[in-house]
Amino acid sequence: MEMLNEINNIGIAKHFRLSEFACPCCKQVMLHPKLLVKLIELRKILERPVYINSGYRCPKYNQKVGGVVNSYHRIGLAADIKVKDISLINLLEVCENIGFGGIGFYEKKNFLHLDVRPTKRARWRK
Ligand SMILES: [Zn+2]
Ligand SMILES: [Zn+2]
Repeated sequence: MEMLNEINNIGIAKHFRLSEFACPCCKQVMLHPKLLVKLIELRKILERPVYINSGYRCPKYNQKVGGVVNSYHRIGLAADIKVKDISLINLLEVCENIGFGGIGFYEKKNFLHLDVRPTKRARWRK
């Protein structure tokens, strides 16, 4: 059905659309406002596009990409992001200042995992 191409095609902030956070396999989506607010702040500081590599993941898709079972992507608290023309280490520094609860530094694949977990902060590197 052609109409489904438009599913979640809703502007939720000046530079973000709900569809960017949806699961690629089923288009289901969960997104916590705290995560969105921090990503908006990041976009504002950087003054350039923040690409969402992965937002919400349904159980099937999470398993497919090898995510941990209790991943924060499963409940709309996490996003993996990529930004052009800034080193990953500089991007990390900006994200530290914004204060994400969880930050994963994926050097080889050149992206950051960011989340707004309610528990104590976590940092890791892969
Ligand atoms: Zn899915
Ligand atoms: Zn992630």
